[in-house]
Amino acid sequence: MGFKSRARKRRKETGEDRGTSEGGESEEYEGQIRCDITGCDNWADKKVGGRKMAYDRAVEVWGSSGVSRKVRRVPLCKSCYRTWKKEKKDEPTEWS
Ligand SMILES: [Zn+2]
Repeated sequence: MGFKSRARKRRKETGEDRGTSEGGESEEYEGQIRCDITGCDNWADKKVGGRKMAYDRAVEVWGSSGVSRKVRRVPLCKSCYRTWKKEKKDEPTEWS
């Protein structure tokens, strides 16, 4: 099994464009937790609506390759969580 998933972490600040100015508020929220859905680069902090999802449940929607890390509880950003919810709605799931 590869550990390619790390490649996903594209750094936004590549250094080139790193302005000296720290003045002014950037609109970009700096979180601590990244969404762990492959290809998603959003924050999954609680503050911004992130959730934690049991790995198995996330895999039901994205598949094991769609979840970039195998952790017990996968951090999801708000929009991924919404996606998940939508997916789940389409199925006649029994909520046990
Ligand atoms: Zn996400």
